Amino acid sequence: MLDFTDKVVLITGGTRGIGLEIAKTFLENNAQVIIFGSKEETVKKALEVLNEKENSVVGFYPNLNNFEEVKNTIDNILTIYGHIDVLINNAGISANKKIEDTTSLDFEKIMNLNVNAIFNMTKAVVPSMKEKHAGVILNTSSMVSIYGQPAGVGYPASKFAVNGLTKSLARELAPSNIRVNAVAPGIIETDMVASLPKETIEPLIKTIPLGRIGTPRDIANAFLFLASDLASYITGEILQVDGAARS
Ligand code: NAD
Repeated sequence: MLDFTDKVVLITGGTRGIGLEIAKTFLENNAQVIIFGSKEETVKKALEVLNEKENSVVGFYPNLNNFEEVKNTIDNILTIYGHIDVLINNAGISANKKIEDTTSLDFEKIMNLNVNAIFNMTKAVVPSMKEKHAGVILNTSSMVSIYGQPAGVGYPASKFAVNGLTKSLARELAPSNIRVNAVAPGIIETDMVASLPKETIEPLIKTIPLGRIGTPRDIANAFLFLASDLASYITGEILQVDGAARS
């Protein structure tokens, strides 16, 4: 167990899948957890699942593409808790249409959540981390950010951008003692994967040397490590957590 007592950990996309598991994992390690989701109803539902210790987890649902709304929410959180120690930019959507069927609106939507929202969240949180001269920012990338994928081009394009944000911000923010890393999950057992067609998933599993799909806990543990002092000299890394999948 790692001790995150008195640490405030903010997770976007914390209402289900990987984000919900990250929230559980940090709660088990004594953090004060704040989850962001896309709407009130899903945030409430997640809080019911998570809220085993009173007040150890709260939730909000700002529009991540509206900087003012994000900033106001972050400012409120800072007024209540005083600091945000770990920001986990995890919210994301995927795509699998061929380019002929992908509209420019589809492409824009994916870039808006997977990239622009990370920019807004990071821009809103960084000033308070700089003031403390400490902080950790972690982004959810994907294995497709290394290899691309044969459809849904907006998704890998967005995750290549996540890696670019991660590596560049790591260099920009290192003098302020803010570490920035990303976790690049392989194929993980969540709703996002469940919504993909069988003919896409099954051949992929066969290419995974560890012989199985990853669990949300496999990914949450990587976030926990990168957020902890065990990773105090690691910044600008894209940590692949994918069972050595290479397709
Ligand atoms: P999921 O669909 O189960 O959860 C997505 C989360 O994002 C939810 O909490 C949802 O509330 C939030 N979200 C969706 N649209 C939003 C919006 N418009 N505004 C705010 N929040 C919104 O997906 P998941 O599999 O848990 O994915 C989480 C992250 O992991 C994503 O960034 C995804 O790209 C990445 N990832 C997942 C896999 C996988 O196999 N599941 C693999 C690689 C990377």
